[in-house]
Amino acid sequence: MNILILGSGGREHAFAWKIARSKHCTQLFIAPGNAGTAHCGTNVNIGVNDFAAQKQFCLDNQVNLVLVGPEEPLVKGVYDFFKNDPALSHIKVFGPSANGAQLEGSKAFSKKFMERHAIPTAAYAEFTAANLEEGKAYLAQQSLPIVLKADGLAAGKGVVISQTHEEAIAAFEEMIVHKQFGDASSKVVVEAFLQGIEVSVFVVTDGDKYKIIGHAKDYKRIGEGDTGLNTGGMGCVSPVPFMDFAFMQKVESRIIAPTIAGLKLENIDYKGFVFFGLMNVQGEPFVIEYNCRMGDPETEVVIPRLQNDLIELLNAAFDGTLDTIDIMAGDSSCCTVVAVSGGYPGDYKKGMAISGLPVKDGEAGETIVFHAGTKASGAAVETNGGRVLAVTSFGSSIPEAVAKSAAALAGISFEGMNFRKDIGYEFA
Ligand code: ATP
Repeated sequence: MNILILGSGGREHAFAWKIARSKHCTQLFIAPGNAGTAHCGTNVNIGVNDFAAQKQFCLDNQVNLVLVGPEEPLVKGVYDFFKNDPALSHIKVFGPSANGAQLEGSKAFSKKFMERHAIPTAAYAEFTAANLEEGKAYLAQQSLPIVLKADGLAAGKGVVISQTHEEAIAAFEEMIVHKQFGDASSKVVVEAFLQGIEVSVFVVTDGDKYKIIGHAKDYKRIGEGDTGLNTGGMGCVSPVPFMDFAFMQKVESRIIAPTIAGLKLENIDYKGFVFFGLMNVQGEPFVIEYNCRMGDPETEVVIPRLQNDLIELLNAAFDGTLDTIDIMAGDSSCCTVVAVSGGYPGDYKKGMAISGLPVKDGEAGETIVFHAGTKASGAAVETNGGRVLAVTSFGSSIPEAVAKSAAALAGISFEGMNFRKDIGYEFA
């Protein structure tokens, strides 16, 4: 079948890498893609939110399956756009309906959903300009630290953790009164702070049946030892040593199964990935967030570990046969180390020439250099974003995998290149 992937990051290169190895893939297109996805298929100059151009491209190129990488087109209704157009009824879109994508697109929606289905999460309240004073009074009574979340999508920047009541009230007013994140912060969710270790679990579902495809721990801070500003993710490891059988059973019975049952009960059209962002609080799992797509950089460790044919897995979700699939992941540890532009997550330059890149992608079990913010410039490759490369390696232990990624990165360079040397440090 002909397949179109929407997106341009390391996540999409990892999908493209995997799908290019599927016996069901005839032609693979990536819109808009990056210099790395061009190793796996054909990049197409169409934006992720340009549904009309995607439609025309799919019709012209006999595309049968669209895999949506990022959240924005899902929240904007790409699934519904294809579903509601009779000319596109033969095309399967893997990703939830706009209604299902609200699990990520609205923090208030996801908190109410969890409340309705008794899924463990932090206690919360929601406020708008209409009950601003009530909100301030509520904040003044909360124990510290306090978590404030803009309701809508804010490119990963909409969460503030305040250490004092004054700070919390100022951040609250900034969001609601001064519209710090535009409409996304016209509603604010105030949450109790959960102390624990974060971990993410990934599921493929058809809105009824589901399969757990992996889990990962990511490293969000720019600096070693988890210091400095938050980023889109500086690295990731999978599997995570503390995710033992007992903890995973709690995650599945208390969180995953009730979430999927809730989607079904509420008739929410959801064929896609669910990303469960969890906090392990002394062995008890709580949901921090849902995402309606795979994570980046988590995809760069979860997908290379997966031994199943990804297209067979997605087709099983369309056919209602997920229960017939056995998920297979190798025993090896896997890590990815992200190389970023100098200055990131603040201002950074683009267009720096990258040298030392492998000429073709590595295979499963080897080191694979996934591209994120890169673009081709003639025969050369240059930087085109904050996160530039995600270097994935396998090993018999996490330190061994990380050492392989560090060795591969030692041979790659661009002006200002920076990466964390301590990914997976707590598992050494
Ligand atoms: P991202 O897209 O970067 O994952 P987001 O904007 O969707 O983030 P959340 O994932 O809900 O927002 O929160 C961002 C981070 O804030 C979490 O990864 C976690 O570290 C922290 N956080 C959120 N909620 C809580 C909480 N209740 N207790 C402790 N930490 C929290």
